[in-house]
Amino acid sequence: MTKIPVVQQILSANDAIATENRAALDAAGSLGVNVMASPGAGKTSLILATARRLPAGLRLAVIEGDVAGRIDADTLAAAGVPVVQINTGGGCHLDAPMVRSALPHLLPDGVDLLLVENVGNLICPAEFSLGTHVNLVVASTPEGHDKPYKYPGMFAAADVVALNKADVAAVFDFDFEAFQRGVRMVNPQAPIFVLSCRTGEGLDAWVAWLLAARRAETLRRASG
Ligand code: MG
Ligand code: ZN
Repeated sequence: MTKIPVVQQILSANDAIATENRAALDAAGSLGVNVMASPGAGKTSLILATARRLPAGLRLAVIEGDVAGRIDADTLAAAGVPVVQINTGGGCHLDAPMVRSALPHLLPDGVDLLLVENVGNLICPAEFSLGTHVNLVVASTPEGHDKPYKYPGMFAAADVVALNKADVAAVFDFDFEAFQRGVRMVNPQAPIFVLSCRTGEGLDAWVAWLLAARRAETLRRASG
């Protein structure tokens, strides 16, 4: 017997729990976002910057996925964001059962927007659905404009792309057009937001898109 059927079995078990997670999020009226990126692209920084720009009264919660430690969760908690830390103990991605175990700690308090910070990794996080509604891929200019060419699966899975650290693009000879062409090769329609969590540029447009996505999901649920 080959290994392929085993992999399929693991993925279908994951997908079944992802479907349960989606139902729990829908029942709570929450939009879930799977935040994926390589280590250091600025996932936590973007979550913090987003939190600061959300309208008053919109309830944000975060699930923090890391191999070890709780540095990012502490940062978010210090900013007043309800957060649950998941340590994967070496695992290089979050899976649906991990997210399921975190939801009861957050959803009962009321969550309008749930940002799930995946483990820093541009490969397998795209293959394990969590039950979230939106796949956000965060790239950054110091990583280079070749990332979409090297990790097409991740960029193909994106519903939206944030290109962070735009303020230092020139230092790294970052070619915006080459990056965009690479994304478009595998993903014809995901919007690409060029932004900087350090300077704040581009963040208002990103947050406006996120809020529109939440409204659209709320309307979709209401209609049926
Ligand atoms: Mg982080
Ligand atoms: Zn993995």
